[in-house]
Amino acid sequence: MKNHLVKITEIIDTHKTAPQAALISKLNPIIRGWSNYYSTVVSKETFSKVDHLTYDKLRAWARKRGKGDINKDKYWRTVGDRNWCFSTEDGLKLLTHDSTPIVRHTKVKGEASPFDGNWIYWSKRRGEYPETPKRVATLIKKQKSICPHCGLYFTSTDIVEVDHIIPTTLGGKDTYENWQLLHKHCHDIKTANDGSLTKSKQLPIVENYDNNPF
Ligand SMILES: [Zn+2]
Repeated sequence: MKNHLVKITEIIDTHKTAPQAALISKLNPIIRGWSNYYSTVVSKETFSKVDHLTYDKLRAWARKRGKGDINKDKYWRTVGDRNWCFSTEDGLKLLTHDSTPIVRHTKVKGEASPFDGNWIYWSKRRGEYPETPKRVATLIKKQKSICPHCGLYFTSTDIVEVDHIIPTTLGGKDTYENWQLLHKHCHDIKTANDGSLTKSKQLPIVENYDNNPF
């Protein structure tokens, strides 16, 4: 959320003198992308909070242009049941985060991920992890960058672990067919529930990549 707000602020700051339409056109895809991606994990309150902070920035943007006057009627309109809709005269509206439906237990699909599975690109961009461990790389590719436990994409900051689908303590093999890559937190949940603890009373041996491969 912090990074997202920094991005919004940057765009508003670099559009101090640009037409309102240019600012809205630049902000909308970012608001849409972020909201869609996080719609499975954040609350309506979080979206409202981000909208409120965005609104504060836009007020400051307008005030500066109006030399102290925010020009409410020029930059804001009542649209439907929305008062204070940041919009242009010809109907271009700023999207709001909280108009995004909150979706639970639904997989994020398509282009919504900020991480498209191109881990080579990400690792290069971050200037680290020149060589992702082969097993992790293979699993990322096989799983199309999706964590099978929660159904969400791995992002460039996630900690990931290799899991045995059938725990080794229950006869699971040490092969690609029996490996999957999970978020660390998803792995913890799975381990607590897949029977590997009751049988062995200890954690199965897994790889914990302290060095995030992304
Ligand atoms: Zn997960």
